[in-house]
Amino acid sequence: MSFYITTAIDYVNSRPHLGTAYEKITADVIARYRRLTGEATHFLMGNDEHSQNVYKRAIERGMDPLAYCDQMEQEFRAVWSQLDISFDDFIRTTEPRHRTAVQALAQTCFDKVDIYEGQYEGWYCVSCEAFKQEKDLVDGKCPLHPTVTPEWIRERNYFFRLSKYRDRLLRHFAEHPEFLQPAVRRNEMLRLLEGGLEDISVSRAGQLWGIPLPFAQDNVVYVWFDALINYAAAVGYGTDQARFSQWWPANLHIVGKDITRFHTVVWPAMLMSAGLPLPRQVFGHGWVNFGGQRMSKSLGTSLDPSDVAARFGADPLRLYLVKEISYGGDGDFTWDRYEERYNVDLANNLGNLVSRVSAMAETYRGSRLVAASGGGRLTQVAEAAVARYRTAMEACALHEGAAAAFQIVDAANEFIAETTPWALAKSPADAPRLDAVLFDVAEALRLTAVLLRPIMPRSAAEILARVGDRTPPDNLRLDRDGRWRAEGEREITKGAALWPRAEEDKVPREHKMDETPAAPPETPRISIDDFMKVELRVAKVIEAEAVPKSKKLLKLTVETGTERRTIVAGIAEAYQPEQLVGRTVVIVANLQPAKLMGVESNGMVLAASLDGGRPMLVGFDQDVPPGARVR
Ligand SMILES: [Zn+2]
Repeated sequence: MSFYITTAIDYVNSRPHLGTAYEKITADVIARYRRLTGEATHFLMGNDEHSQNVYKRAIERGMDPLAYCDQMEQEFRAVWSQLDISFDDFIRTTEPRHRTAVQALAQTCFDKVDIYEGQYEGWYCVSCEAFKQEKDLVDGKCPLHPTVTPEWIRERNYFFRLSKYRDRLLRHFAEHPEFLQPAVRRNEMLRLLEGGLEDISVSRAGQLWGIPLPFAQDNVVYVWFDALINYAAAVGYGTDQARFSQWWPANLHIVGKDITRFHTVVWPAMLMSAGLPLPRQVFGHGWVNFGGQRMSKSLGTSLDPSDVAARFGADPLRLYLVKEISYGGDGDFTWDRYEERYNVDLANNLGNLVSRVSAMAETYRGSRLVAASGGGRLTQVAEAAVARYRTAMEACALHEGAAAAFQIVDAANEFIAETTPWALAKSPADAPRLDAVLFDVAEALRLTAVLLRPIMPRSAAEILARVGDRTPPDNLRLDRDGRWRAEGEREITKGAALWPRAEEDKVPREHKMDETPAAPPETPRISIDDFMKVELRVAKVIEAEAVPKSKKLLKLTVETGTERRTIVAGIAEAYQPEQLVGRTVVIVANLQPAKLMGVESNGMVLAASLDGGRPMLVGFDQDVPPGARVR
C-alpha cells in the first residue's frame, strides 16, 4: 500500500502565516500517521511562484524574480523545519520538471480540442489571481480582498472547455461520496455543478512571468492551471512515467476551503481531458482565525507561526491546532486560549504524568520496573482509546484522534489517584500491587506517546525514551507498538519538566499587544516606590547578532558598567546588528530572565513602540557612561 498526500502550494509574495502553517501541520500529521501504519508515504509540498504578485514583489525589491523566489524558498523551508513538517518532496513551479509537465498537459488538452482561442473580458482579482464574475463581487470588491480593487481585463485568451465535463463531474461526485470531504464542502460543490459550468480562461497575454503555452508561445499559462499540475509534475508526469504510475493518482489533496472549486471541479476536468485518473480524495480544511478575525496579510491580522512556535516550541502549537479545531471546520487562535490549553493539556496533564511516573519509579523501584499482572481497567481504557484513535485518523478526524490519546492520559492520572502508590509503598505486603500499578502507568504513557507521535513528534520520542522504549521513533508501527504490552522490563529515565507551567507575565510584549483592545481602559497611577522597583540603567552594546529563525529578534551583548549580559530584543525589523554595536541603550536591569527562541534574555531594551510602525530605541542627546541609572 502506498499513500500520496499533498498540500496546496503557496504564493511566495509574503512569509507563511499561522493559517498556512495550519494546513502544513495537519497534512504532516496525516502523513506521519500513514507512516506509523507502515504505508509507503509520499508527502509533497511546494511553492507557487508564477503569480503576478510574486513578480511585482520581486520588482518592488529590485530583485530578479527567480532570485527572489530562491530567497523565499529558504524562508519557507526554515519555517517548515521549525514546525517539524516532514515533507518528502518540495516542488517549485519554476523548476524544469514542472514546466515540462505543464506544457505536456496543456498540449494534450489542446490536441483534444479542449483548449481553444477566444476573447476574455471581465474582472480579475490580483490577490486571488482569479477571474471574478460580477455576482462574486461585494461592493465592487473581491470579498476575500476588500482592500484590493479588481481589474477589468480584456484580452485574447485561450479557454479550457470546462463546461464539457460538468456531467462527468456530477457522476464522479455521485459515485464517489468520499471524493470531497467534509460533507459541507461537497454540498457546496454539488450546488455549483448543478448550476452549470462556464469555460475558463487558461492563459494570460503579454506577460513575461510564467510558462509559455507550447502552441502559442506569446501567452503564458494562467497561474492556477499551471499550479494545479504540480501534483502530477512532482511524481514524474511528463518526465518519468514509471515513477508517475507508482504514485498517481494522489490519495489526498489537503487544501483550504476557499480553493476547493479549483481542486474538485477544474483540476479533475483537466485530468479527465488528459486521460488521467482523478485524485482519490480532496479535503477542504477550514480557517484559523486570530482573535475571531480572518487572518490576512492585507488586513493586518496575521500571525507569524515562528513567533508562536517560539513561545513553547513546535509541539504545543501542533497539538493546539490539531486538538482544539474540529478538522474541516474553522477555528480560532488567541494567546490566552493557547496558554490556557498549554497549561491544561501539557503542563498539568501529560507533563505532570510523565514527571510523576518517573519520580515514583525512581523513589519506589530505583527506576527499574518489571512486568507484573496488569491493572485491568486501565488496559481496557487504553485499548479502546487506540481503537477510537485509529478510526478517527483514518477519517481525517484529527481532533478526535488527539482527544483519544489524551483519554489515556486522563485515565492514567485517575488510576494513580485511585490506587495511591504512595500508600502502597508503605506496606511490604502491597509490593506486588505497587509493581503492577507502576508498570501499568508507564505502559499507558508509552501507548500515549505512540499515538501522539504524528501530532507531537519530538515530545513523543522524548516520552518513549523516558519510559524505556528503545525503538527508533521512525520505526514505530501502530499494529505492533499500539498494543498494550504486559511483558519485559522498563528502565525509566527522569528528566526536566517537559512543559513548565506558563506564567502570565512571561508572554512576550509584542504578542500581548496584538490583543489589546483599540481603546484600553485608563491605566491606574502607580506610586514612586512602585516605579523605583524598576531598575532602568544605561548600557552599551558590545555585540549584536540575529537570532536564527526569528525575523524580529536580535541577540545583544551589553556592558552595564559592572558586567556584560545577554539581552534579546525585538528590534530586528528596524535595526541591523552592525548598526547597534557601540550604541548606548537603556535597559530594564532587574527583569527576571526569560527564554526567547532558545536564548536566555537578561533584561529588556527600551524602545518606543509605534502603532503599526517599527520600534525606535530610546537614546540620549549626549554621551552617558554605562551603568548610570535612569529615572
Ligand atoms: Zn481576491
